[in-house]
Amino acid sequence: MPLNLPPLRDVIAAHGLAAKKSLGQNFLLDSNLLAKIARVPGDLDGAAVYEVGPGPGGLTRALLEAGADVTAVERDARCLPALSEIAAVAEGRLTVIEGDAMQVEERHLFPGRAHIVANLPYNVGTALLVNWLQADWPPWWASLTLMFQREVANRIVAESGSAAYGRLSVLAQWRSRATIAMKVPARAFVPAPKVESAVIHITPIEAPAGVAVGTLSRLTEAAFGQRRKMLRTSLKGLPGAIEAMEKVGIDGTRRAETISVAGFVDLAHELQKSNN
Ligand code: SAM
Repeated sequence: MPLNLPPLRDVIAAHGLAAKKSLGQNFLLDSNLLAKIARVPGDLDGAAVYEVGPGPGGLTRALLEAGADVTAVERDARCLPALSEIAAVAEGRLTVIEGDAMQVEERHLFPGRAHIVANLPYNVGTALLVNWLQADWPPWWASLTLMFQREVANRIVAESGSAAYGRLSVLAQWRSRATIAMKVPARAFVPAPKVESAVIHITPIEAPAGVAVGTLSRLTEAAFGQRRKMLRTSLKGLPGAIEAMEKVGIDGTRRAETISVAGFVDLAHELQKSNN
């Protein structure tokens, strides 16, 4: 159901919301594009949604129009009056929290599972994603629909053997399905950033048994921290890793980027067994 609100351009002008680069502000104003992003998680009618960085509220409006109950965290106090105007017509379905998303204990905001949908500020986007991917499993979130710079989106969905494959690919894929839902050109944003963007969609799947996220996290950090080096060198500092590699039959002269997600899971499993 459409909300009766003025065009976003007028809202931005009325509240003097000149974009601040330091806050990663690149706004989306095209309501068709915003509605398309709000459709990525599926049917949101009556669903709880967590939005980081609503800014002037373009995506927030699209989510509300899709029927969602939105809780949004925004750091820039200048945006709050514009967001209050949306809340005033949203009939109790929009809660805005002023604050830094890196400091918010989001899972306590929702009694059940929530979809996370956000056009993320580029400076904290990857850190937030890594936090969400390291949640207790099954996670408190039902799905992630997130705008990233295209280069980061490519890393999230990359397969082993490709240049983009790395720690982020493994963390995003070992117990989730990660896809690029849509590509978004730079010109869709105001102001237009220098790079292209993409919306990624991540849904949780069952976690492999016997592997703790902390083990996989440390393993991939060591392996990809020195991605040009052979694994027998990069994993030297991780107790038990060389032996685990031998046990699962991974040749120590290989480089991290050649090991599949399943290979890292096997290795983490073995490492965990030997350290227990
Ligand atoms: N959602 C709006 C849109 O799509 O047009 C704005 C997206 S803009 C890329 C990122 C937003 O995140 C900005 O409104 C910015 O003020 C906000 N932001 C930046 N850092 C933040 C943080 N640490 N916590 C919460 N919001 C933040």
